[in-house]
Amino acid sequence: MAVPQHAKGDKPNLLGMTLPEMTAFFAEMGEKPFRAKQVFRWIHHFGADNFEAMTDLAKSLREKLPQVATIAPPTLMTEQASKDGTRKWLLDVGTGNGIEVVFIPEDDRGTLCVSSQVGCALDCTFCSTGKQGFNRNLTAAEIVGQLWWANKAMGRDPKGERIVSNVVMMGMGEPLANFDNVTAAMDIMLDDHGYGLSRRRVTLSTSGVVPNLKRLKERCPVALAVSLHAPNDPLRDVLVPINQKYPLAELLATIRDYLEAAPRDFVTFEYVMLDGVNDSAQHAHELIALVGDLPCKFNLIPWNPFPDAPYKRSSNNAIHRFREVLQNAGFVVTVRKTRGDDIDAACGQLAGQVVDKSSRTKTIHISRAAA
Ligand code: SAH
Ligand code: SF4
Repeated sequence: MAVPQHAKGDKPNLLGMTLPEMTAFFAEMGEKPFRAKQVFRWIHHFGADNFEAMTDLAKSLREKLPQVATIAPPTLMTEQASKDGTRKWLLDVGTGNGIEVVFIPEDDRGTLCVSSQVGCALDCTFCSTGKQGFNRNLTAAEIVGQLWWANKAMGRDPKGERIVSNVVMMGMGEPLANFDNVTAAMDIMLDDHGYGLSRRRVTLSTSGVVPNLKRLKERCPVALAVSLHAPNDPLRDVLVPINQKYPLAELLATIRDYLEAAPRDFVTFEYVMLDGVNDSAQHAHELIALVGDLPCKFNLIPWNPFPDAPYKRSSNNAIHRFREVLQNAGFVVTVRKTRGDDIDAACGQLAGQVVDKSSRTKTIHISRAAA
């Protein structure tokens, strides 16, 4: 197997290597597979970022590793805590780019919202990341590095369970447009020697990149959320332009097929509530007809504003009415609570500023991940 170049500088970055990749890397050095497993565990289980800490490795190996490899997580810039328990970290991913990672505590779980790209090319009209345009894909190390940092900060509960129990790929970017790096990062999240998350506890959210959703079914079927946002093609063509390429009938058929392999027997449809655009009772009825007998739940997201956006958030009355129509038809519907308002950690509001070490202010593009 080719050794991937998750490199920072010349040396491969072990943080972004899956266990099979790391095993191949160690084999090339003439080291046994169990050595790779030990290092993998040190990095992801114990949060090590240097080889000296790995006390059960032979001294000679500990000395050799820094010459051929590195463990390079993104640099932590700032950390903030909200009154409601939401936490947010700004990570520097170089060349003036930052990503925000948000932790959302709930009664029975702790969810981390992870980004997959800096910016996004898909240009959904209500999304600040989309308006920002596409900058670059995150590497597998930068994606899994978000979980690595959050685990370092949050630690474990008194029973020894990690506080971060769930991951949602709902931060900045379209995960299925960065397929290889996202699936490698999810492999590490799912690996028992990594973070040991079950496939039910990792959710990928997509706006509907149909060919890669088909590939995901074969490669790494995790729980699925799909950003629907409209009950018909003409409206979805405008709100989620990738619909022009992969229209609703094709998307829904692909989701139905995906569910055969998924760890949950339903898909979650995300539906952003835009005043006067997609939030009438008529739209809700249309939605019911559209999904038919496809096993699904709905998550209604009150739209979060950003400067110069041509939308308004739906009124509470409109959200309530929409919810009721779906519920009366037998669907489970949740309305996403806006969390972490006081630290700007709410869903879909992007771009901010940090001050660099030389005290010059530079604009950093950041993801305010989903709540
Ligand atoms: N690209 C993926 C995942 C990232 S976006 C996707 O589109 O699914 C995560 C969720 O936040 C999506 O459902 C997206 O539609 C929603 N979102 C984007 N901008 C928003 C905003 N301003 N207010 C509320 N939700 C938003
Ligand atoms: Fe990209 Fe998702 Fe935003 Fe659309 S909603 S522009 S796919 S991040």
